[in-house]
Amino acid sequence: MPILQAFGPSAGRPPLPAPAGDQTAAARRYGVLPMPSLEWNAQVERETAHLYARVKTVIPAIEWPFFAPYVKAINALKRERNAVILAHNYQTPEIYNCVADFVGDSLQLAREASKVDAAIIVQCGVHFMAETSKILNPDKTVLIPDRRAGCSLAAAITGEDVRLLRAKFPGVPVVAYVNTSAEVKAEVEVCCTSSNAIEVVESLGADTVIFLPDRYLAHYVAAHTDVKIIAWQGACEVHERFTAEELRRYRADDPALQIIAHPECPPDVIDEADYTGSTAGMIDWVRKNRPRRVVMVTECSMADNVQAELPEVEFVRPCNLCPHMKRITLPKILDSLVHLQEEVVIDPAIAARARRAVERMVNLRR
Ligand code: SF4
Repeated sequence: MPILQAFGPSAGRPPLPAPAGDQTAAARRYGVLPMPSLEWNAQVERETAHLYARVKTVIPAIEWPFFAPYVKAINALKRERNAVILAHNYQTPEIYNCVADFVGDSLQLAREASKVDAAIIVQCGVHFMAETSKILNPDKTVLIPDRRAGCSLAAAITGEDVRLLRAKFPGVPVVAYVNTSAEVKAEVEVCCTSSNAIEVVESLGADTVIFLPDRYLAHYVAAHTDVKIIAWQGACEVHERFTAEELRRYRADDPALQIIAHPECPPDVIDEADYTGSTAGMIDWVRKNRPRRVVMVTECSMADNVQAELPEVEFVRPCNLCPHMKRITLPKILDSLVHLQEEVVIDPAIAARARRAVERMVNLRR
């Protein structure tokens, strides 16, 4: 069904939260630790050899002496701090494979965040993901190694925009993609991710639903449901760069090439794909189908991470990087654990309202 109406995006971008100042509340509570040694030596090499084995197909041996001291120090500090690291599928291989405790797409990380048994969560992803973890864990300390790790979708809409939509369409329920700020989540009935968007929209039992902020995911949902969709016109700056023409060129070079795409891509890109799904769905598809050659039409670190696991699959890499995800690095994760920065803080009243929308999604057919 075509999209009924579309609005936005917001002219005024919501600012990212201000820096926490000299010392975060968490640093005052737990104290700052000394910076560990970052020397590369035979002992570090020995102790990290099993981790290098996981990434040796995607990280050249000459680069490992730079990463290994950070990997060793971060894993030791996690134990000392009683901390866990949640890493999104778009994180670089040394983070994803060597220091993360849980990896996944937004939905998987939200579910892990609701079950973690640690005092501190370090979110290796972007700011809205860290907010989601804080929303689900109000009593835990949630850190993001660089608070400037934003998202073009989350920046496309404000809480005020949602209130205006509600005034224009009274009684129409609102579904927000998790790629939104806590302030926006607080204004909606339920959240969704790209892996459950259709299911969430249909779970409301409504004839018409406002879906925000991704215009392309809204289009994808509208094409797969009879529910009428009112969309917001935000877009992911990474996925909207892919074109159907480049995919046709790849296919012309190798007709057996498999193309799998993320639903944040434009509709003509999705039309070229053999499979469309969330990042977790894409990884599962490659694990199950073991194609000879595949192009993952999404952020390009994900191909590195799956390549590390499945070296026999050849990945064609149109390399669109997310500049926000790439703000997270091993040195910043280490800093985060030493100084307990940057702490994610959400107004408790906003967090309580946002929690209802996130929990409604997390609890849907667990
Ligand atoms: S890849 Fe796109 S949706 Fe994901 S964090 Fe980056 S800008 Fe946001």
